Amino acid sequence: MIDLLIQGCDILRLDRGQTTIELNQDIAIRDGIINQITSAGSINPANAKEVLPAKGLLAVPGLANTHAHVPMVLFRGLVEDVTLASWFNDYIFPLESNLTPEDVYWGALLGIAEMIESGITAVADHYFFMDQVAEAVRDSGMRANLVWAVFGHEGEEKLNATVDFVRRWQGVAGGRIVTWLGPHAPYTTGPDFLRLSAKKARELGVGIHIHVSETLEQVQLSLREYGVTPVRMLKDTGVLDVPTILAHCLFPTDEDIQILADAPTGIAQAPKTYMKAGMGTAPLNKLRAAGIPIGLASDGAASNNTLDLYEQARLLALTQKHLAQDPTVMPVDEVLEIAFHGGWQVLRMGDRVGDLQTGKLADIALLRQDGVHVFPRYSPAANLVYSSRASDVDTVICAGKVLMRERQLLTIDKARVKQEIAQRLERLNQRVPGRRIAFYPA
Ligand SMILES: [Zn+2]
Repeated sequence: MIDLLIQGCDILRLDRGQTTIELNQDIAIRDGIINQITSAGSINPANAKEVLPAKGLLAVPGLANTHAHVPMVLFRGLVEDVTLASWFNDYIFPLESNLTPEDVYWGALLGIAEMIESGITAVADHYFFMDQVAEAVRDSGMRANLVWAVFGHEGEEKLNATVDFVRRWQGVAGGRIVTWLGPHAPYTTGPDFLRLSAKKARELGVGIHIHVSETLEQVQLSLREYGVTPVRMLKDTGVLDVPTILAHCLFPTDEDIQILADAPTGIAQAPKTYMKAGMGTAPLNKLRAAGIPIGLASDGAASNNTLDLYEQARLLALTQKHLAQDPTVMPVDEVLEIAFHGGWQVLRMGDRVGDLQTGKLADIALLRQDGVHVFPRYSPAANLVYSSRASDVDTVICAGKVLMRERQLLTIDKARVKQEIAQRLERLNQRVPGRRIAFYPA
């Protein structure tokens, strides 16, 4: 018996940097794994517990969102058009002091609903009250790499509490939840705290997810205060000895790139945030030439407004072409390589998911291809990068379980989530003078 049979879909394949489409295929799934892929009609539906007719739909791997603050959907659209320092110090850090664990649970569920609707099956989340985020991930059926963000001023006791979180949730929900450590950034922790974080990560056998070199000013501040770049500080403190997810890394020096090339690391890219905040553009050609995995990321919706990685894929291509003033940079196949392979490599799951092949984890999104905005279909690959919308995602499967079918979420009651959040908004958007969770140095 097989658990799920997807009948008659088209399949996106990525092989050695080239995309191809195979038409009219059946996908059989058993125990959360892709069991067989074969031309349509050769698997007897009587042998399947559940059958999904998928004629005309395009099957692609689930997307991995490599850096997010999912519950920040609670602050979506609240702060616009201010400097990064003001965004943190006058708005976000004060607003975040209002959050309760229950707020975070409902915010996480709202963000997860948006991600599932966008074909995302895994997220690397970096936030607070992470037990509630873990509960939301468990309840929703998606995958996550979760860290409890911690600032240097919170001290070793708080770091130890995040170690306890790692132990509580590691491998829970059938292995869908992975937990790491999450010191916030070099500029909010300093080298001693990073050294301590790296030591705890080594003892736990886990990785570290951290912001680094988000702006040129941060790099200059680090050079002034510590005499090293933020990336060099990560190396010197032992952070790069463990697996890492580095959020942003827009301004690596050539020496930084060499350091990163020798480390078990990956970089998360959220170009919409970079454009909105006027931060800059990462030198992806150089980073990729050095063999460093790059994945798409949404960052938080307070800066990015959506958790839509199709939008990020498009903006990643456009910003790279714009930076280079060269339309041949970042071609369609390379964007899809980053979207579907790079993200899973950053999550250190690239050998298990990201390809629709026998033996891989069954994380699959089925996209509608009948919209006028994707017609004609000379190139489904070009359509995916430049024309498709997250709302084209019709059905989403994670670990072999259907989480959304024909745009209907099966694990999340959206009306309830919106109702729970609506009654919290008035309290959440108050700023109390002098109350903030951290300080952004500027
Ligand atoms: Zn971030």
